[in-house]
Parts: sequence; structure tokens; C-alpha cells
Amino acid sequence: MISFPPGFTFTQSCLQDFAVCPRRFQLRYLLAQSYPAPLAKPLAAVDRSTERGERFHALMERYWRGAALPERVDPLIADLWQTFLQNPPPDVPQTFRRTEFSVSVKPAWANGARLAAKYDLLAYDPDGEALIIDWKTGRRPKRAFLERHLQTVLYPLLLVEAAPRLLGIALPPERVRLLYWFGEDDGATEEFIYSRARYHADQAYISALLARLNALEVAEFPLTDERRHCQHCEYRSLCERGESAGTFETYDADSFPDLEELRQVIAEAAASDDFVL
Ligand code: SF4
Repeated sequence: MISFPPGFTFTQSCLQDFAVCPRRFQLRYLLAQSYPAPLAKPLAAVDRSTERGERFHALMERYWRGAALPERVDPLIADLWQTFLQNPPPDVPQTFRRTEFSVSVKPAWANGARLAAKYDLLAYDPDGEALIIDWKTGRRPKRAFLERHLQTVLYPLLLVEAAPRLLGIALPPERVRLLYWFGEDDGATEEFIYSRARYHADQAYISALLARLNALEVAEFPLTDERRHCQHCEYRSLCERGESAGTFETYDADSFPDLEELRQVIAEAAASDDFVL
């Protein structure tokens, strides 16, 4: 039987890891295993991509908070900034705008689990809709991939759950929209309009995923059968699934963990005396 550290929080990254490979979830979140292998080659391309993402998110935070912008935009993200100026996301509600905004809830259907999401931008109009925007600085995946990604599942779901406390109203799912904006794709967007049917389906899916996780014994975290996931996994040498990294061209940026989430979860695990398997 697994025991999570007190306050352990399930995020889209860790649930995505569990959905992709239970063993990866165990290594990363339960054992806080350090990374024995690079995610992709060449390393410089991965580092550059990560750095661009972090700097662009920082710039977007300043922009949407209305803070003063630097006189000269960082050359590393100048192209993304130009793309944004030419193709900003349309129809962003104005009344309530928060950047890098975290919500955390413990819904009854999650069997005591705490779930959290961090929104790049959350915008809301009381008489209109709630819009979640996520800035993507990597390549644009197929819509079908995004559709089943845990981020697309968890972000609108948790906003509906958190709305009474956060916004002071029960937010009907139909009034929630999730928008991915792709800087590498001329500011193209993929939009997901939420619905009551999807809300209930997502609750059932997350609840089942958590139940499956909680039912596992320590020795039962299986390795994924889909070896393509191992190509860009830092644990492949531990799992004897190959030693050399896949190329940056075939690397799927969305399979990377959210670094901030990851640091937080690992710090909680490391700081806890009660963290036992
Ligand atoms: S190398 Fe493959 S089996 Fe091992 S943790 Fe990574 S994804 Fe899972």
C-alpha cells in the first residue's frame, strides 16, 4: 500500500506521468529518483527550448499583469514576442485577470486527494465566460493529442470545482473555455469549450485514475508497454529500455514534466518524515 507525503498534491504533470507509465510516476514522485539520463539530444537544443519557454512565460506574466515591460525584449524570445503582438489570443475577458494563478481543491469524488492546477492566464467576466490560456512555446501537437492530455482534462475541471470559493459563484461548465496558444506556429490556437457532459466524464476519469494508483502495491508499478515513451524518458537506463536519448526532432515537449510542479512535489516528498512506501 502506498503512503503519500502529507499534503501531496496531484497535478496534471504527475497524473500524466502515471497515465503514460506508472513506473515513471513511482520513480519521479514517490522515490524522487534523480535523473540518470538526458531527455533528448542534442542537450543544447533541449536547454534552449526550456529557457525560451521560461522566459516567454515570465514576459507574458508581466504583460498581462500590466507591469512595465523591458525596453528591449530578450533576443532569445524576440520572435515569440513578435508573434504574440501580431496574433494575440482573441476575446480575453477583462474583469478578472490573474497570471501564474494556482488553484487547489479536494473534491469529494477524489477520495481525499488534493488536486491542483496552475494557470498561465485565467480571465473571467461575471456576465460572460471564464477563459484559461496556456502559452505553448514548443511545436503544436495534433488536436487529438491535446484532447486526451491530462492538462485539458484537469484545468477546466478544477476551475469549475474551485469557482464558488474563487469567483464567488458556481460556474456552469459551458462557460469555461481552455485555449492553447502556440508561439512556434504563428500564434495559432486550439480551443476546448467545456460542457457538463465532459465535466462529469472528467470527474469519473480522474477518480478512476486515482483509484487505480491507490490500489497499487509498491512492487506493482508496471513499466509502460509503449516503448516509444521510453525514448525521451530520463529513466530508460534504470528500466533497461535503452541508453541513448531520442533526438530533439522527435521529442514531444508535452511529455516533459512541468519543472516548477516537479520541484514542489519532490521537495514535499523529501521534507516529509511520513513519506513511506
Ligand atoms: S523508461 Fe519507459 S518504462 Fe521506464 S519509467 Fe520511463 S517510460 Fe516508464
